Amino acid sequence: DISNPFFPDKQIDLILHLASRASPLEFSRYPIQILKANTLGTWVTLGIAKKCNSRYVLASTSEVYGDPPAKNVPTPETYNGNVNPIGARSCYDESKRVAEAFTMAYHNQHELDTRIMRIFNTYGPRMRGGDVYGRVVSRFIEQALLNKPITIFGDGNQTRTFTYVSDLIKGLIKTAFLPDISGQVFNIGGQGETTILALANLIKQLSGTTSEITYQSLPPDDPKRRCPDTSKAVNILNWNAEISLRKGLEKTVLWHNQC
Ligand code: UDP
Repeated sequence: DISNPFFPDKQIDLILHLASRASPLEFSRYPIQILKANTLGTWVTLGIAKKCNSRYVLASTSEVYGDPPAKNVPTPETYNGNVNPIGARSCYDESKRVAEAFTMAYHNQHELDTRIMRIFNTYGPRMRGGDVYGRVVSRFIEQALLNKPITIFGDGNQTRTFTYVSDLIKGLIKTAFLPDISGQVFNIGGQGETTILALANLIKQLSGTTSEITYQSLPPDDPKRRCPDTSKAVNILNWNAEISLRKGLEKTVLWHNQC
């Protein structure tokens, strides 16, 4: 638990802060823990980075953009966000915004070498499933493989840009190890914007299920569109997502099948 101060007795050269719950279904169950991990936890780990003069990489999120209007989609790093500070997702999106502010403050005030990556919906093998912890990809695959109804929230026209885990990790490594990018922020996101209905249909096709699609109410503040402008990562990090949604889902379905 990084929200409790701790003082490692070793020299630390690089800190990667990826410590937070990220599933919207957890936001109502663990809002305080999520706030603490991203606010106090960021402060604690930045303190360690300052003491050791470590390089610091913050795993931030597309959630800092909230629910951007259509004119700001695809969304560049320069878009400042449209976030509800007291909404159902605020424990996550506002605390990630604080985490970014903390990171920039340590960069500006203490000249710490910091980098921020804004991650768009990552998925892949070994991702947790289940009713509370599962994100949409693992939930739909689990439902499909059990021939249970696939539960679309809302009409399924909301979009996400899914990032396969190996693409994300390559982006993380580039963000962490490239020289001369201190103080910068990068969108790290997949190849194409997809509706949740299209995702459900693709998972149905790839899993060979007999599941039907059912519709449930849309959770409050569920963003309508989420799609990154990744040109900064392409130009500066020389990074681009390589795995198509179909290919990534094939690998993920295979993994679930083998579990
Ligand atoms: N979603 C859905 N059915 C589910 C779980 C999620 O239709 O069983 C939708 C959810 O409303 C959202 C999208 O899928 O629009 C992505 O949800 P996820 O929980 O993966 O993360 P989010 O991108 O909302 O943070």
